[in-house]
Amino acid sequence: MAQGQAERAPIGAYGKVTITGKTRVVGVWGYPVGHSRSPAMHNAAIEALGLDWVYVPFAVAPEAVAAAVAGIRALDLVGVNVTVPLKREVIPYLDEVAPDAARIGSVNTIVNRAGHLSGHSTDGPGFLWDLERRNICPDGRSVLLWGAGGSARAVAVALASRGCRISIANRTLARAQELANLAGAGAKALDCNAPSYAQVVADAEILVNTTSLGMAPALVDEMPSVSDGALHAGQIVYDLVYVPDRTRLLVAAEAAGCQTIGGLGMLICQGAVSLSIWAGIPLVDVPLDKMETGLGL
Ligand code: NDP
Repeated sequence: MAQGQAERAPIGAYGKVTITGKTRVVGVWGYPVGHSRSPAMHNAAIEALGLDWVYVPFAVAPEAVAAAVAGIRALDLVGVNVTVPLKREVIPYLDEVAPDAARIGSVNTIVNRAGHLSGHSTDGPGFLWDLERRNICPDGRSVLLWGAGGSARAVAVALASRGCRISIANRTLARAQELANLAGAGAKALDCNAPSYAQVVADAEILVNTTSLGMAPALVDEMPSVSDGALHAGQIVYDLVYVPDRTRLLVAAEAAGCQTIGGLGMLICQGAVSLSIWAGIPLVDVPLDKMETGLGL
């Protein structure tokens, strides 16, 4: 091996990501994390931006969160993305949490500036940005949101900020009510067993699945409750689930003539917002096309 080659050895499937003596680490925490597609997506963008960074997955058990956060400072990581089940758990250990993230109780991005750790949520902005780049304006439209978990909180608050009229249906009705209170702007909890449910589904202009229904492997054959004929042309059906990229809900919606959008678009946009914060660059400079290529799209 020629001199100098060892310190620039290509790694993994990304080929062109190189490790130097100055390479800094950024990554994603989850538990489990092995399914994550963020490393492929981010390393493609990191390479395109010419950053001497590498993005790696870390399996962080919930009981190890305090030590892992201390590790960000000790190892001078650029920052990390945070996914299930840690988005709320990391909050007490950060120096600062952005107001939007504090409001929804969810951090998916930690930024390290000389040991000062701030937490952000890019899920809501990523969701809205994905709509925008598809020329969909949600302002003032009627939305049916399935789910009331972490991603639902981000999406509901983002849509409420755009004046949407939101109905929230969730397996646990009390959580839907809590989320309606949090979102404000007239958001309402909706009982899937109520006689009015089918009509709300039919009347919604935008329908968003934020539940895990449809997610492989365990729930791949499931979808939110939709009676025959309720979905129709003119509706937009957005599924946050991205494994598989065509869920059972999207297949049914497409057959009914709806416009359908899978979760990879939001994954890319929320990741791009995270990258713009870490790198201190404008969003327009983040290479979305490279992130798509990294995902094999
Ligand atoms: P949470 O665990 O916070 O919430 C899960 C939600 O799904 C709850 O509303 C829960 O209902 C519901 N749910 C789970 N299992 C069932 C079931 N068997 N029947 C009915 N409802 C069920 O998860 P997140 O909100 O963080 O994530 C949800 C999905 O969104 C995941 O698939 C995740 O991968 C995806 N996601 C995609 C993103 C993207 O960028 N595309 C970003 C973030 C998430 P209950 O309240 O009754 O328990």
